Parts: sequence; C-alpha cells; structure tokens
Amino acid sequence: MGVFEAIASDTHEEVLYGYDPVSGLKAIIAIHSTALGPALGGTRFFPYESESDALRDVLRLAKGMTYKSAAAGLDLGGGKAVIIGNPDQLRSERLLRSFGRLVDSLGGRYVTAEDVGTTVEDMIVVETETQWVTGLPEAHGGSGDPSPATARGVLAAMRAASEFLWDTEDLSDRVVAIQGVGKVGASLVERLTKAGAKTVIADVDDDSVNAVASAHGSRIVGVDEIFSVSCDIFSPCAMGGSLTADTVGKLDCAAVVGSANNQLDTEAQADQLTERGILYVPDFVANAGGIINIANEFHGYDWRRAATAIDRIHDNAVQVLAAAGKRGINPNVAANEVAEERIANVGSINLKRRGHAS
Ligand code: NAD
Repeated sequence: MGVFEAIASDTHEEVLYGYDPVSGLKAIIAIHSTALGPALGGTRFFPYESESDALRDVLRLAKGMTYKSAAAGLDLGGGKAVIIGNPDQLRSERLLRSFGRLVDSLGGRYVTAEDVGTTVEDMIVVETETQWVTGLPEAHGGSGDPSPATARGVLAAMRAASEFLWDTEDLSDRVVAIQGVGKVGASLVERLTKAGAKTVIADVDDDSVNAVASAHGSRIVGVDEIFSVSCDIFSPCAMGGSLTADTVGKLDCAAVVGSANNQLDTEAQADQLTERGILYVPDFVANAGGIINIANEFHGYDWRRAATAIDRIHDNAVQVLAAAGKRGINPNVAANEVAEERIANVGSINLKRRGHAS
C-alpha cells in the first residue's frame, strides 16, 4: 500500500515526516482526528523493520487514540508519533530536541507524551523545544506516571462488569487472573487486594512476579497457564494481541477486563468471547484512566478532580455493556459506536467554535 492510500484508508487528517540526518531522527507524526480537540498520543521509539511498518503502526495507534478519548468523553482528538530506531543506541539530546521542533511545528494540533521506548526524562528534553508535551513529572507541572491512574480505571471497569454479571460492585472473594504485573498490573493487584479479591498472576519477568506475590499474597502461575486459570475475571495487562482464537478458547472466566492496548488479535475474538458467554469490557474503555489523568493537565492538574473523572470509566463501561446487550452486538462494536456518535455530535460544535463550520 502506498503512503497516500494508507493515510486515506482510515481518513487521517494529516501525516508529518521529520528527518534530522545529524542525529539520525526519523519520525512520523499521524493526526487521525482533531474533531474533539488537540490530537493527543504518545511517542513510540521502536526499531521498526521498515518505514512502511512504522507508518502502518502510527496510523493504527493514532486512530486508536481518537476512539479511546472520544469513548472516555474527553475533548481530545487522536494522534501518535513514532521514532524509527533502537532507543538505546539512538537516543540523544539533539534527536529529542529535533523531534520537539517537529511537534512544535504543528502548533498544538498534536500533543505528545511518553510511550513504549520513550521515558518521562525524554519528554523533559522534548519540552525544551515545545510546550505541546504532557505526562511530565509533577515537578515540571505535569501529572507524572499515568500507570496508577490506568490501574484505578481498570478497577472501575471491573466493578462495572461485576455489577453487570452479579448485581454487585463488590469484588471481595472474586478471583482475578492478571497477565503481566508491570507498572499497571502491579498497581492493579494492590487495588484488588485492598478490595478483598484474590489474585493469580503471571509474568515473563521472575523478579516482577515474585515481588508482587510477596507483597500481596498472589498465587503465581506460568505465562501459558494464566489463560486457563479458573477465575471470575481475566485481566490482560501485558502486551497487545494476547487474546487469540487459541487463548480465548482456553479462558475459564466470566469477564475479561484489562489494561493492555489492542488486546484482541482480530475483531473476530470479540465475537468469540460473546459466543463463549464471556463479558468483554473493550480495552480502550477499560484502560482510559491514564489519558483521562493526562487530560486533566489542560485545566491545571488536580489529582482529586482527575480521580473523579477516572472513576466515570465505571459508567462508560456500563453504558457500552448495556448497549451491546440490548442490541445484540459485541461490546467492541458498541464502544466504537459510542465514540463515533460523540465525534459526530460534539465534534461539529467544536468546528463551529473554531470558526471552521458554516
Ligand atoms: P510494563 O512494561 O510496565 O508491564 C508489562 C508487563 O508485562 C511486564 O512486567 C512484562 O514483563 C510483562 N509481560 C510481557 N510479556 C508477557 C507475557 N507474554 N506474559 C506475561 N507477562 C508478560 O507496561 P505497563 O505500563 O504496565 O502497561 C501494560 C499494558 O497496558 C501495555 O499493553 C500498555 O500498552 C497498556 N497501557 C498502559 C498504560 C499506562 O498508563 N502505563 C495506559 C494504557 C494502556
């Protein structure tokens, strides 16, 4: 697929390429939509095998951010940036500042943050060239690491699933199996333990899994075994794409609610979950706590206000699950429709406000 064809396929607004031969910066910024507000999404620094792989990824991720923010009720659009290369070899002040200038050239239509391969420290360097950076440490006027906020939102989504399935938000004595106990997974286990739930965990990193188990009394299982653990809720909090035809076939749970982005290998897995009678809270509904937290920076960051907004993920999830049940569609389709409806309705007001509409 050619570049223009790729951009047109999902109606992205703009794609910007940046190159600095001195530092080796090769970056692509994709703006999928600014209908609801500035396109916010992190910068992924990754050794893509080809430029077309990088383009495909940035377009897909930017579109995902449009849907995540819209479904969360935020006045934000969707965008994403990728830097091609190995961050450990290429990272330098010049490269990050060149990238900052590229972000700045968009005048606030795209706002960046950290993502896979970039750190909060990198964003502090990017900020020297542009104000359009979020997720900075609190000392820099930002909201800090978004992971605890994401975990708080996943817990709210789990309570919504519980209410839907068992008529109670109470998670005490529920068994939750968590795949991946990194920044979000570990914080989620802590919250679940406080809520009285029992946790079963797996991680490829032995140190992480042992630390979480000894702090919270979780049961440890192998990384393949986690899918077939008998539990109430399965929570994918590792990498994307873990819900394949094979792994969904193994699940022994009533609901799937987790933080990982793009959990479904393909759209077909959403139907497979429904056919198996497993309630699915779509990933971009459940894991929006981090972006909701960051969005609060635009109004002068306040944790209590952010926490109240994050807890609304509960209501968002209930709305999506109810719509899916009522119309006999899978929750992923229902969540996409909620997002599209908001973009169409509220987006047109924004256009008028910005003086673009007649
Ligand atoms: P992280 O890198 O801190 O944690 C991921 C953990 O998963 C690591 O401990 C890793 O060892 C483990 N892991 C990797 N492959 C595994 C496998 N096959 N089986 C079991 N464990 C495996 O990342 P994180 O920030 O905790 O994010 C977790 C997921 O949530 C990611 O998919 C991320 O994109 C998504 N997410 C995170 C945030 C956030 O605020 N951090 C927000 C939205 C979405």
